[in-house]
Amino acid sequence: MAENPQPARYRPRTDILGLGDPFYDAVAPASFPAHILRFRNDHAAAQIGIVSGDGTADTLPLTDEAWLDHFGRFAPLPGSIPQPLALRYHGHQFQSYNPDIGDGRGFVFAQATDDRDRLLDLGTKGSGQTPYSRFGDGRLTLKGGVREVLATEMLEALNVPTSRSFSLIETGEELVRGDEPSPTRSAVLVRLNHSHVRIGTFQRLAYERDADAMHRLVDYVLTRLHGRTPGSTPAIDLFDEVVGRVATLAGRFMAAGFVHGVLNTDNINVTGESFDYGPWRFAPIWDVGFTAAYFDHHGLYAFGRQPDAMHWNVMQLAVALRTVVDAPPLIEVLETFPERHATAAAEALLWRLGVRPIDPASDRALADALTTALATSHMPIDDFFFEAFGGWLPEGDDWTAFENVRALLSEYRPRRDRSHSYWSDGTPCSILIGEVEAIWAAIAERDDWTPFHEKVAAIRRMGQALA
Ligand code: AMP
Ligand code: MG
Repeated sequence: MAENPQPARYRPRTDILGLGDPFYDAVAPASFPAHILRFRNDHAAAQIGIVSGDGTADTLPLTDEAWLDHFGRFAPLPGSIPQPLALRYHGHQFQSYNPDIGDGRGFVFAQATDDRDRLLDLGTKGSGQTPYSRFGDGRLTLKGGVREVLATEMLEALNVPTSRSFSLIETGEELVRGDEPSPTRSAVLVRLNHSHVRIGTFQRLAYERDADAMHRLVDYVLTRLHGRTPGSTPAIDLFDEVVGRVATLAGRFMAAGFVHGVLNTDNINVTGESFDYGPWRFAPIWDVGFTAAYFDHHGLYAFGRQPDAMHWNVMQLAVALRTVVDAPPLIEVLETFPERHATAAAEALLWRLGVRPIDPASDRALADALTTALATSHMPIDDFFFEAFGGWLPEGDDWTAFENVRALLSEYRPRRDRSHSYWSDGTPCSILIGEVEAIWAAIAERDDWTPFHEKVAAIRRMGQALA
């Protein structure tokens, strides 16, 4: 990842308007008492042609003041959607169906084309109340925003498909929350995502028995988001694409040691990008029972249960698609999930280990040996991958659990050398809960943003070493 990438052209889009009224409600943003820019992702901005400084005829230059207008006050972006749209969706929350949700504190307010010609949504979190807020205030805590920036930066560096945090603006309100010392500070976050179409978007249409809208949504997702030409079985093609992408995401979560925390169907994007970060944590060691959310009493979304949770979620998409297609071909695709997940997890583990794949069977054997050794040794996950990157395991008592891995690795070649200065640091860059809390404490106690910005820079540098 280059630090100063050549900016893309600014190419606004409005594709979402073609879906039509049943998919969203036009809403107004909240007006906030203050707008203090805390995080401006110039790297992500450049990929949609938004630049600081002068820019060129093809780009959209935004001063910090103009940035606050667009991403804190939600002045429409030139050429894109005229008014914010709160999206309608349902979802299974901890496996109970809830028809009473939707964008309760966010909306999509712009679309653009990225530097690889793909459609992107600019969506929000904490931008005010909507028809779906129920009893909620429509707001985001500043701590929640800081946590989302850290999660997305780390996941991007670890090669996990994720939404990207585009902007974080502190908004000067006092919020009351059960899970933070209150009153607590407020913020509005803008995220970039290749879509905000969730499994729950399909579930809502099935619930409404709206086959016409379902056909339109299938076409939108296949053509605009998956970049495919619809054939004779678009709903099956779409399902196949989503199963593959979600299986890959689950495999990448595992290799990253990431626990999302709330894998409800309304949080699962049909592009297979992870998004909507609440109580996330990275697992310090390979403990399949490690749980992120304090309210996940049964460990439904624990570290090692995430692949099963994702399988269950795509099954709900199959159920919804029954509105427009018969069951047997959906079941056939659904059954490919475990195999596709295992393949993706092995690829992701090898990637993080810094070795080139050989063949699927050998790679799976190496991945299995590796996860077994990590689980039995209790070696910190980040330490293991830091020491072993490139496929060379140190000798010593700490490494006896890894003898099988060592034997299998003798066939493997590094995919990248260790010449980047990151590998001379002595310790890995990680982002475990203690450090997240320390970064937040500096902000909460002293309004000191240095540890936060230093961490983002350190994560990006690790991303360069791994890329
Ligand atoms: P989440 O758990 O963040 O995916 O949200 C689940 C549902 O609750 C969605 O419909 C959200 O929009 C809604 N929601 C969560 N927090 C708030 C809030 N502070 N105000 C309004 N709606 C919220
Ligand atoms: Mg959500």
